[in-house]
Amino acid sequence: MAEKVAEKVEENVEDAVHETWDQQGWDELRAAATEVMQRAYAPYSHYKVGAAARVDDGRVVTGCNVENAAYGVVLCAECGLVSQLYSTGGGRLTHFVCVNGAGEIIMPCGRCRQLLFEHGGRDLLVWTVSGVKPMSEVLPDAFGPDDLTHMNDMADPADAASEGTD
Ligand SMILES: [Zn+2]
Repeated sequence: MAEKVAEKVEENVEDAVHETWDQQGWDELRAAATEVMQRAYAPYSHYKVGAAARVDDGRVVTGCNVENAAYGVVLCAECGLVSQLYSTGGGRLTHFVCVNGAGEIIMPCGRCRQLLFEHGGRDLLVWTVSGVKPMSEVLPDAFGPDDLTHMNDMADPADAASEGTD
């Protein structure tokens, strides 16, 4: 009985830790995204976007969208965020959220899902319009760094030589 109570307490502590991230971590991340959104340069669409992510060492990186008179060269908020990730020391993204001009959660565009996959992988948690999901659900069956490694392995000269003897 006492053991079960202890187990229950342990579960509750784990929930609390998780909850702290859910309640505070996500809210702080969303607040950071909303703050940087206000610095977006969107004179053409007036659609401002802010993005914020937590890095595996605990720091937070952000980015806002930057438009251009040549519409096709617009930089999404995620571009600035990934640049900041590297300009401040690199690492892996663990949690991500982006918001519109009203501070509402929006989805990263298709291209940026690829960007996020590169720097956070399948396990990166994304606060989506339908709740928190891992990248493996936001960008299923993603093409990524492993695909290039796979082809490089196949191009290995030793493999080619052994294939020749078949
Ligand atoms: Zn994008």
